[in-house]
Formats: sequence, C-alpha cells, structure tokens
Amino acid sequence: MLFPSLKLKRAARNHFGWRKLRKTQLTAMKAILKRQDVLVVLPTGGGKSAIYQVPATLLSGPTIVISPLLALQQDQIANLNERGIGAVRISSAETPRQQDQALIALHEKRARYLFITPEQLSRPDRLAAVKALKPGLVAVDEAHCISTWGHDFRPDYLSLGQFIRDLGRPPVVALTATASPPVREDISLRLGLRKPKVLVSGLDRPNLFLEVGHCPTEEVRWRRLTSLLQTDPGQGIVYVPTRRKAEDLAKKLTAAGFKARSYHGGMSTGPREQLHEEFLSGDVPVMVATSAFGMGIDKPDIRWVAHLALPDSPDSYLQEIGRAGRDGEQSRALLLWQHEDTGLTRFFNGGRPDAHELERLATALQSGPVRSTKKIAQLIGLLEDIGASGMSPAEAARAAVAEADRRSAMQNSRIEMMLGFAQAKGCRTRELLAYFGEHMASACNHCDNCASGTVVEEAVTEDQPFPVHSTVRHPQWGAGMVMSYAEDKMTILFDQVGYKTLSVPVVKANGLLVR
Ligand code: ADP
Ligand code: MG
Repeated sequence: MLFPSLKLKRAARNHFGWRKLRKTQLTAMKAILKRQDVLVVLPTGGGKSAIYQVPATLLSGPTIVISPLLALQQDQIANLNERGIGAVRISSAETPRQQDQALIALHEKRARYLFITPEQLSRPDRLAAVKALKPGLVAVDEAHCISTWGHDFRPDYLSLGQFIRDLGRPPVVALTATASPPVREDISLRLGLRKPKVLVSGLDRPNLFLEVGHCPTEEVRWRRLTSLLQTDPGQGIVYVPTRRKAEDLAKKLTAAGFKARSYHGGMSTGPREQLHEEFLSGDVPVMVATSAFGMGIDKPDIRWVAHLALPDSPDSYLQEIGRAGRDGEQSRALLLWQHEDTGLTRFFNGGRPDAHELERLATALQSGPVRSTKKIAQLIGLLEDIGASGMSPAEAARAAVAEADRRSAMQNSRIEMMLGFAQAKGCRTRELLAYFGEHMASACNHCDNCASGTVVEEAVTEDQPFPVHSTVRHPQWGAGMVMSYAEDKMTILFDQVGYKTLSVPVVKANGLLVR
C-alpha cells in the first residue's frame, strides 16, 4: 500500500474525527496494514481500540473483534455505527435471525467489524461462516485474559489460538494494558503469534500520584481511607481482596455516611450491569469492589483508586490504578497495606493441583472432550501447555504438577515484588516500571517518596555487570533475564522461580551469574 501513514491518518480523521494519531497507534497500525502480527501494551485510556478500528476501514476483509465483556462491546458497536462504519455482533445475546442478518451485512460489506465471543467460534458451523467472510484481521482485546496467571483469566480465551488457525490465519493484533514480560510471552505463545511486533509504551502516568501507607492495624487502614474520602476527592474505586470484604466495607462506609456500593464477581448479571451503569453515570461515588470490577471501564474522570490490601502482583496493581485519571487530570492511587495481606493473596493463589485428578483427567481426555468447569478448564489448559497429548496420563500428571509448582513460585515472586514496591524508599514509579523492564532516567515527582524529598537522584550505575534484558544463568535458579538495576540491587526474572532481587556487589564478588 502506498503511503500507509497518510491513508491511516486520513481514515482516522474522516471516520473518527481524530486529528492526530499517537506514535504507538500509528506504528501498530502500519504493521497491521503490512499483515504483521502485533502485540500492543498500552495503559488504559491509551487508545487501544483505535489500533484495530482505523486499519479495519482500509482492509478488504472484515475485522473480527474478540473482547471479554458484552456490555463493553455494546458501547463500542453503538459508537462505530454512529460514525457510520457498520459493526455487528454475534453472541448469545442475539437471536438466530439477528445473527443471520449480521453475517449478511458483513458479506455485503455494510458492516466492517464483527464482534464475536469465543463461545460462538467453538461451533463448527459458525466458524465456517466466519471463515467464509475472509477476515482481514483478528483483534483480541484484553488479551491478558488468555494468561492463566492473570486474575482476569478466561478459560474460553484458551481456544482462541486454535480458532485463529481455523479461520485461515489472518493477521492478529493483541491488545492489553497488563504488561509484564511473562504475560506478554504467554499471550504470544497461546495466540500463536508469528514474530509479532511488540509495542510497549507510556506506562508512566504523570497525573497519577502514587501513595503507599503501611497500616499496622485495620483501624489505621479505616482511618486512612475515610480521611481520603473526607477530602471529597471525587469518584473512585476501593479494591478489596474478597467478595465478603467488598460487601462489609460498603456497609460500613454507608453507615459512616459515605455513599458506597459493592461490586463483585459473585453477583448476577442484572444487578452487576445496573451498578456498572450507575457508576458510569456518577451516581455511585465510592465503589468497593474486587478485581472483577473495572476491566475496560471507559470512564475518564475516576479521581482515585484505593487498595485495601496488597495486590497479588504489580501487573494487577498497574492495571487497577490505571483506571484513575484517564482524562489527564490529577488523580490519586493509594495503597494501604499490611504484612498479613500477603498470606491472603498466597491463599487465593490456589492449592497445588492434585496429581490423581490430573491423571484421571488426562485419561478421560484421551477418549474425547470433557465437560468443563472453570477449574477443569484450568487443568486442561495446564495439560495442553506441557504438551500432554504425547504422554502417558501418569507422565502428564507429573509434568503438570511440576509446571504448576513453577507457576506458583513465579506467582509468589510477584507478591514479593509487590511487597518490595510497598516498602520502597526510592521513587515508586521507577520501582514499579522496572518490574516491567522499563527504565526511568529520572525520578517521577508524582509519588509520596519523591514528594517527601527523600529520593536521591539515582546516579547512572556504572556498575552493571550484565546489560538490562540480557540472559544470565544462576547455579541454583537456572536461566533468567535481567530486568533492572536500582541502587546496588539487580532484579532478574528467572524462568523457573520468577523474580529475584540480588545484591550487585555479591553477584560480582563471587561470580554468581554467568551469561
Ligand atoms: P483503551 O482501550 O486503551 O483503554 P480506548 O480505545 O477506549 O482506550 O480509547 C480511549 C479514548 O481515547 C476513547 O474515548 C477514544 O475515542 C480516544 N482516542 C483514541 N485514539 C485517539 C486519537 N488518536 N485522538 C483522539 N482521541 C483518541
Ligand atoms: Mg480497551
């Protein structure tokens, strides 16, 4: 295609009224037009949808959009149709007649976008009908849902790699706001991306003030939260680790005179959607929620996000605080934690899968599909990941348990990283972004530590025995990748045991690491 940048910019202006495309948007879009696979990590509000919406207007085949939440799709579809670019959806919410009409609209090119759920694609007739449309692009939104590590894991995302192959393997763009290198690798592997162009950008959010408070007792935690609310900070979200806590805290806040509601994954769809609406319209100033609340929320003026426990990983934390201040106005992220929180997170991290259960499952799978609950799907995913199909059930079970142990070590290392962040004396943003392999040259000036003036500007360390992103080997922990240096410490992500922070002088003195 001649002058792809010009064409893209023109399409963005004409169809969407955007006078400029952001750098990452344009780079991603150009790769899409070249039929390259792309993986984009951009913070919430970074404009990820545009990355497939704009090129879609220039491709000959329709764009298949897969995203996890029907309610969010609805908004996007309405938005596209308002702009006069046809978008249709096929999901359990449409009647068979509506679904047929959607396919016709796509064939006649009256519609350019097909929003569809993984569940629909699991029907062979449906898959064939979509394939016949000769899709020009598959866009997988909230792509981190495919990773079994994330709290947003969706079992039905696991089949997407297969569906994409069955659709004749059109180019794929995967989009997410959760960025850590292992999740990126997971996405790439499971979707079967081919040498994807990986674009990560702008994780620093200068309008977000990061604050952390250690709370030795629940009483202190309560006081710090209520003093935030008393400053009338605007609308916000309080994240809590359990459904029970969400309900209890909302009640307690209400009794104390704050208008709070609770939201969690255990609620039925009706009330959940209603609450979602009430939050969007500004009727609920304080939403007390589990991590089930918020994915993809397109509300620009959330002024604060508070965590009333240590999040399970920097990934979740970054994603959740990223919901505040999308309009670019000053916003706050307040983390109120205590040491006991880590026990809770570890507990939720789940037990070790049972070898006997895995063996039975592996045996059952040999004779056909198995009725799948979320837990079973997770176990099946695990078996698929270790390539169980070529093994005996007993062998497969053993390998799967070993893999589960590796993941749990990895997950615990992420909790350790979160603990490190909470206790950090230096610039918090630098600490957080280092976890994602992003180096910040100067301190952020929008965190509590920077504000208190105690952060010493980090001298560029001459003392880096191995470059950032290089691969090293440790006698006990095996291979890993250097993620960052801070003061006299280095952080390494090991394949088998996850993140570890080592002392640079010690590493140098005894030659602990080799290339
Ligand atoms: P994300 O999915 O990354 O959270 P969205 O795709 O929902 O972000 O986009 C956030 C907002 O930014 C939307 O309201 C969208 O219309 C707007 N937007 C995206 N790209 C541009 C652009 N190039 N110029 C102006 N507004 C944009
Ligand atoms: Mg989005």
